[in-house]
Amino acid sequence: MQKKKLHNLSQLRQALRRLLQDLEHSLEVAFGRSPLVKGNVYEMARKCGKPNCVCIRGQLHRSMVLSWSEEGKTRLFSILPQRLGELQEKSEEYLRFRRARARVTEIGREIVAVLDQIENLRREEP
Ligand SMILES: [Zn+2]
Repeated sequence: MQKKKLHNLSQLRQALRRLLQDLEHSLEVAFGRSPLVKGNVYEMARKCGKPNCVCIRGQLHRSMVLSWSEEGKTRLFSILPQRLGELQEKSEEYLRFRRARARVTEIGREIVAVLDQIENLRREEP
């Protein structure tokens, strides 16, 4: 996002108030208690490798998996049908948490940028 320079103190204070509201909103995830499961849930379609299987003719085996990255490697976990809803929910909660965390980092940078502009506006030579 291109940083817009604001040129008067009251605009900067308004920007700061908006950022603080945004920060408070983004930090709401920290007050939740529901469990998080790292990773994305999706349907995987693959060939099993058996020479006479239907998957050779394009009828791929489909299964739901949870996928996450660990030490640079992609990990997969096969999901039993009875756990699908639960894991989807916990994974969504995890993704929500991570998005909020990223936004908090961004807001921090934006607040510092506004503070720098306020400092410049208020600064005088001795
Ligand atoms: Zn197969």
